[in-house]
Amino acid sequence: MSYLTSDIETIHEALLEKKVTSDELVRESLEKSKIVQEKCNAFVTILEDAKGVEVNDSLLSGIPYGVKDNYSTKNVLSTGSSNTLVDYVPFFDATAIKNLKDAGAVMVNKTAMDEFGMGGTGTTAHTGIIRNPWDTTRMCAGSSSGSAAAVASGVYPYALGSDTGDSIRKPAAYCGIVGYKPTYGMISRYGLFPFASSLEHCGVLTRCVHDAAIVVDVMKGKDNQDMTSWDSSNMHLKEATEKELLGKKVCYIKELCDITNFPNVTDELKEHLENFHHTLDLCKEMGLIVEEVSVDQTLLNALASVYVVISCAEATSNLSNLTGIIFGKRGKGKNWEEMMMDHRTKGFSPLIKRRFVIGSYVLQKENQERYFKNAQRVRRLLVDTWKELYKEYDAVLLPVGIGPAKPLEGSKEVIGKMDEHLQALDEHLQIGNFGGFPSITIPNGFVNGLPVGINLTSNCYQDELLLNIASHLEAKMNYKNQVCEVSKNV
Ligand code: GLN
Repeated sequence: MSYLTSDIETIHEALLEKKVTSDELVRESLEKSKIVQEKCNAFVTILEDAKGVEVNDSLLSGIPYGVKDNYSTKNVLSTGSSNTLVDYVPFFDATAIKNLKDAGAVMVNKTAMDEFGMGGTGTTAHTGIIRNPWDTTRMCAGSSSGSAAAVASGVYPYALGSDTGDSIRKPAAYCGIVGYKPTYGMISRYGLFPFASSLEHCGVLTRCVHDAAIVVDVMKGKDNQDMTSWDSSNMHLKEATEKELLGKKVCYIKELCDITNFPNVTDELKEHLENFHHTLDLCKEMGLIVEEVSVDQTLLNALASVYVVISCAEATSNLSNLTGIIFGKRGKGKNWEEMMMDHRTKGFSPLIKRRFVIGSYVLQKENQERYFKNAQRVRRLLVDTWKELYKEYDAVLLPVGIGPAKPLEGSKEVIGKMDEHLQALDEHLQIGNFGGFPSITIPNGFVNGLPVGINLTSNCYQDELLLNIASHLEAKMNYKNQVCEVSKNV
């Protein structure tokens, strides 16, 4: 049996009892990485020289893990899956990485992602398309696609992700695992390549809620290098998942869960929503009060546009330092302007360039009021609506996406092509980023033989309550620690 498919505490005990060594785990994880690379193309770098470390009291010590390639890792290639940083090797570790290193965690690979975190398909990495281990003709969603594929395949018990719109929580659903982004600022973003700072969260992908709590307990903390980080030393996430049920009342949103609200319902969507309602019954069995609430459909339909405007504006500004002068490959040209133009033209994929066009447009003085400021106002309305719900409910429960992983074929990102109501269902996780709310996706069974997820989102600073409810719900279902095992004959 491979310990890599176990949960963190089980692996830790096996290490302490010397049933397995850290070196053996690392070597096995590297072997598995190669198989998953062949099958899913999930990595930018596999750290062939990674070695085991001495095991101590820290639960993570000696255990291998993976890191999304937009975290700065000292002396290890960090590309953000972009050609602009194809040979960039940082001279420092992101704070989250440093915290894990201090706890004895062993990084074994850097995972592929949508370029700089922009995208939800896993198809824009400079190293090629990332494939879903459950069905390689389907996507993992994005942007933490490689991390999701690797954890689902049992390469290690956890990998780091980042989440600006849904980039941890959607791939987790598509790959049948857990994806957790804590409250905004709980984990320092120092050293994470910035995409849209006001929306961005570090987080983790695991195979059970308890593991997500263990890892974030180590990653979190106030950091002088990130002024949005705050002191969470009084929060003990792991312990919170071990307590009896603390939640009392949860809700779901009619407009996003009622099948009659959608046109041309596919079998996948139907099954997905049925699954969701079945899980609500389990919540009731657990002793939770579950209520349906209604939210203005117009507001819900606006959320995807609000996200596009704000995230593209922030990305345009944040990524303006990628010129090939300070970082990345020098462009060709007679002067600095030509060199920058050459570097950026060759370096960025068409998707990113489109986003820069949108970002620049909405930030132009004459457009700011109409687009950027209005988007901020609607963001506020959405956040206030959710905050109102949190006065009465401990968590909002919703299905993730419109079904299981979408086929890769024909996956090109086309904004505005989907029906508005469906798009709201597909994109609602972005509200968790608008409000900085803690949010977790857990597996919710299978549709058409592929995993689907359910999401729970709570009010800011209610991470303990959120993880507590999530772990009780997880225990009621049969998908805890599920693995899509890789085999040598891919
Ligand atoms: N799908 C979203 C986007 O394309 C999410 C990205 C993210 O969370 N990093 O921007």
